[in-house]
Amino acid sequence: MKYPTPPTVVSLDEILPEEPLLMMGAGPVPIPHKVAYANSLVINHLGDTMNRVIEQVKTMARYVFQTGSGHVMGVAGPASAAMEMAIANLVEPGTRVLSICNGLFSKRLAEMAERVGGDVTRYDAPEKQGAEPEIIEGLLKTGKFRVITVVQGETSSTVWNRRLVDICRLGKRYGCLMVVDAVCTLSTMEMEMDEWGVDAIITGGQKGLSSIPGVSLIAFSEDAWRHIEKRNSPMAHWCLDARLADNFWNKHAYHYTAPVSGILALHEALRLIGEETLPGRFRRHAICSAALQGGIEAMGLELLIAPEWRLASVVGITVPDGVSADEVRHVMNSVHKVEIAGAFGLNILRIGQMGEQSRTHNIFRTLHALGTAMRVRGGKVDLPAGMAELERVLASGG
Ligand SMILES: *Cc1c(COP(=O)(O)O)cnc(C)c1O
Repeated sequence: MKYPTPPTVVSLDEILPEEPLLMMGAGPVPIPHKVAYANSLVINHLGDTMNRVIEQVKTMARYVFQTGSGHVMGVAGPASAAMEMAIANLVEPGTRVLSICNGLFSKRLAEMAERVGGDVTRYDAPEKQGAEPEIIEGLLKTGKFRVITVVQGETSSTVWNRRLVDICRLGKRYGCLMVVDAVCTLSTMEMEMDEWGVDAIITGGQKGLSSIPGVSLIAFSEDAWRHIEKRNSPMAHWCLDARLADNFWNKHAYHYTAPVSGILALHEALRLIGEETLPGRFRRHAICSAALQGGIEAMGLELLIAPEWRLASVVGITVPDGVSADEVRHVMNSVHKVEIAGAFGLNILRIGQMGEQSRTHNIFRTLHALGTAMRVRGGKVDLPAGMAELERVLASGG
């Protein structure tokens, strides 16, 4: 069959909805216009123009990670590729790894470490709770771990490892390299790479940063870099080899053709964070998430996680008995044009509070859509009480 009839397809206009859904799920999140515009450009991946862009992206990423590290890099790929880059470079066959698990993404780090031959011990934190440093210390005493993997916020279970700082400091005392996934949390809440003793920090574009999916950021500490430079075992991944990536990110030389449009988008996303400042951005996220949580509870619904361990960047909601989370989401999508997330297999709902999701107009619309959809699907909710509480918390400044 040489030159068969070309396939019959429809244009994108026929596939894409006339009014895009407001994306209030677990990512990707809406992006600012300047980010979208930057993402529409293509420039040469090498040369003076790109070099200036790269230098600024690194400078701004250092601010967002709160690090002075000389080993900040972008990754062409999802946050998972940045996770894999951290793991593949720091874990060698036989390296003892302690993986702190609170759900899907933290388990993914453990699986990645196993795949490169790491000797991995998984610690599952109690359900609906973050990890406690006292328990981690007990584990560290039992074996000589070299690497610890942990998430700041576990998007899947909506649990916040609020004692991450203590866990990082502890890990350092026991001579471990700390690999921290800050994909959903970065720029929504505090994260100080150098101060806390993080050795590899990972983020994606499509969550807290409000950029596009598929272009991610990673930074290695000096400790981590020394380890990478002196490792003996071969690196199986060519694209994810940090030493090769360093050629592009720090020596203006070729590694692979960088995703220029996505890097331009990231540049704008980071620049907007700088304009807002980190403290300003943390405050906006804290107030919006608190207002949303208050509104949900005042409506008569229960939040999945107790306040102590509750993640602010992604809020989990228990769906009342007799109501289907999928049906509620369907009504929100089709009638209100608001998309929120379910959870892989569980009857819960999750609403994102990352980047552009944390805007007052977006949370009003989302809470209203949630309340009416619940009612339509048989849930007993007091929508006016919920909206009033949302308004009250916003007005009181959290
Ligand atoms: C979304 C997410 C990831 C994975 O991001 P991808 O871009 O889908 O690879 C990893 N960790 C956390 C905490 C996340 O929220």
